[in-house]
Amino acid sequence: MGNVIKGKPVADKISEELIREVKGLKEKDITPRLAVLRVGARPDDLAYERGILKRCEKIGIEVEVKELAEDTTQDDFINKIKELNGDARVNGILIFRPLPNHLDENAIKYVINPKKDVDCFSPINQGKLYEGDQTGFSPCTPVAVMEILKHYDVKLQGKDCVVIGASNVVGKPVSVLLLNQDATVTTCHIFTKDAAKLAKEADIVVVACGVPKLVKESWVGKGAVVIDIGINLDENGKLCGDVDFDTVKERASMITPVPGGVGSVTTSILVKHVVKACKMQNSIDIVDTAPLDKVTA
Ligand code: NAD
Repeated sequence: MGNVIKGKPVADKISEELIREVKGLKEKDITPRLAVLRVGARPDDLAYERGILKRCEKIGIEVEVKELAEDTTQDDFINKIKELNGDARVNGILIFRPLPNHLDENAIKYVINPKKDVDCFSPINQGKLYEGDQTGFSPCTPVAVMEILKHYDVKLQGKDCVVIGASNVVGKPVSVLLLNQDATVTTCHIFTKDAAKLAKEADIVVVACGVPKLVKESWVGKGAVVIDIGINLDENGKLCGDVDFDTVKERASMITPVPGGVGSVTTSILVKHVVKACKMQNSIDIVDTAPLDKVTA
């Protein structure tokens, strides 16, 4: 059986560093502040929000939640973002997605100030992600995957990685982050001819397709590293990932659990990005908070 690689030690280590950094900022009379913008009250948004509030409190940064009605208009939503853009106390803005259908993400993403866009909504930050420009913000969940790989010393240079899922928020960015670390990356999606065959050849399989337990033992080569980003409910209403954990763990050398894997690192990355935004806005060196140093074999 492979090692079950949990998120908590990774999150704890990041939090420890952030507590130290935030203490240093407070000595300069600076307290990082996050604004969360939520439309409606979806249970998964509320669960994520509770995790954020807890993590912010633990690390010592401020957080405010702006809840807008489910039927809020596009104009009202845009005005709220502009208000937060202009509020000097707010260093980072997180907009919960997906937005309701009547709000046009393609218009809204241009409104958020890229310097406060801590979860890579703005096309400016998406461009910086592709360029590996450390002054931008990559999306928190893909960065959490990279931090887990780094923490558990998984070498990436020259490795074959298969990513199952190609969404703009998870699959594509994690593919680019892996590529930026000199891995060879194949990104699969719903129209991929034989994702199972591709995955079976990979050294590292990252799964974010939103299909409960899609990835079975037969999809994974012996000794592969498996990272499961999925968050679903199984037929019994229990949380599960996109990987069939019980069978795949017998073949993998390392595997993340759900819950307790990638999801538990995501909020630490969010806070890390708020601290980084705060430092940049106060013209403080960001070397400490750069997303990732290149890991070589
Ligand atoms: P999405 O629905 O936007 O995208 C799913 C992607 O998977 C698409 O590219 C689709 O083509 C592909 N796909 C679907 N079925 C497939 C199949 N049978 N074979 C190959 N590819 C297939 O979903 P998303 O927003 O990217 O989220 C993916 C998963 O990650 C979900 O379970 C979601 O809950 C989870 N998630 C977790 C976190 C976290 O912090 N852990 C954050 C965001 C999303």
